[in-house]
This record gives sequence, structure tokens and C-alpha cells, in this order.
Amino acid sequence: MTRKFLVAGNWKMNGRREMAKSLATAVAAGAPDSCDVAVCAPFPYLVVVSETLAGSAVALGAQDMSEKAEGAVTGEVSAEMLDDCGCAYVILGHSERRALFAESSELVAEKFMRAIAVGLTPILCVGETLDERNAGITEKVVGDQLQAVVDAAGISAFDKAVIAYEPVWAIGTGLTATPEQAQAVHAFLRARLAASDASVAAGTRILYGGSVKADNAAALFAGPDIDGGLIGGASLDADSFLAICQATTK
Ligand code: PEP
Repeated sequence: MTRKFLVAGNWKMNGRREMAKSLATAVAAGAPDSCDVAVCAPFPYLVVVSETLAGSAVALGAQDMSEKAEGAVTGEVSAEMLDDCGCAYVILGHSERRALFAESSELVAEKFMRAIAVGLTPILCVGETLDERNAGITEKVVGDQLQAVVDAAGISAFDKAVIAYEPVWAIGTGLTATPEQAQAVHAFLRARLAASDASVAAGTRILYGGSVKADNAAALFAGPDIDGGLIGGASLDADSFLAICQATTK
């Protein structure tokens, strides 16, 4: 079993500089040694969070980036800039980006390749809507989202990547996939990777995200293919997030 990985990302578009600083301070001080932890902050606060996390074991990540390296793309932020701000991770293909900004799997794959090229570890989000789950096409949806990136980037890129399975219907809704539902999709995603390379599949961390809280975390993390969590709402409160981190030891 790989060491669990907990991502306090996503703060989304919440809070101000002081909140970013105080959350990062508390997470850096309280993160247990027993798991790996990263904090994914909004762009304007990356530098202050990077400074706050300095000297701690907690890594920094961003919530998105451009697929372009540089140039006339007003308002965009490049992988190089994230690297320069101290980021080790970047969330890509979050369902809110796919839904609100029409990000296709092909665009997500381009971003993924840029991140890898610059040495950032992408956290690739995949997940089905409730309609898709009810229609029985969860595996087709998440399989296609993953395969688009495998086809573009190559399976070996997943040596340096993390996958987050986030059922869209569970994000920010208080509805959580049952441990059995989550484990089944995680096993499917790992098998999909294994179809290309078994050893990459065995080493790729697959996180669960979707209304993870301190009281449901341990049951979710018990799944053999669930390597940790991508935490949204509960990461806006340091105590809640740290309690979820502690659940990895149960
Ligand atoms: C998310 O935003 O990716 C997420 C998982 O949010 P929440 O934990 O609030 O469902």
C-alpha cells in the first residue's frame, strides 16, 4: 500500500490572504508524519502560502494552469509561473473547470503534458455526473477522461501524476460515494492504467474527492485502491482537514 496523500485543495475561490496564511500555518503545524499533505491555494495567495509552508513537509499546489508555455494569453498562468511560486502540484480537469469553462479532456491532456514538462505533478480529476451514474455509464465516462490523457501524454507520464476520482454529484453536496462505490471506480481506473503498464498502475496514487469529512474519511480510505483524498469544503477549516489526515492512520 502506498503512503496516503491528502490534498487540502481545494479552497476554490474562497477566503482572503489572512485565511490562506492561517490555514497554511495550521496545516503545516498539524499535518501528521504518517501521510503526505499538499495545500492547493488560489493563484494570488500561492506566494504567501509558499512562504508559510517553507520548512514544513507540506507541499504547495495550484488549482489550474494554462496549457500554453508563455505569450499573449492575457489572464492566464503558466506551469513555469507555478513552479516559480514554489508549487509542486497542480489540480487539472476539476469538474468545475470542465463544466463552467468547457474544458475538454483534450485540453486537460495538453495542460497535463505542460505540467509534466515543467516538473509539476498534475492531480488529474475525473468523475461522472449523477445522470451519467444513473445511466450506468460511470466507467465509460471516467475511462474516457483518463484515456484521453494516457493517449496524449503516454502511460509513463503517470509515474509522476496523481489521479483524483471525484463524482460530480458528491462535490460540495454533502453526498458521498459509499466506500464500495468509490473503491469500485478506483479499481477500474487502476485496471485501466494497468492495461497500459502494470507497474505504473500499481504506483499511481488515486485519490477520492467528494464531501469527504472526518466522520467518513476512515471508511473511504480503507479501500485498497483509495490512496488518499482531495478535500474541498472540509479543507477550509484546519481542524476538519487535520482530522481527515488523522483518519489515514485508522
Ligand atoms: C472538490 O472541490 O474537489 C471537492 C471534493 O469538494 P468537497 O470536498 O467540498 O466535496
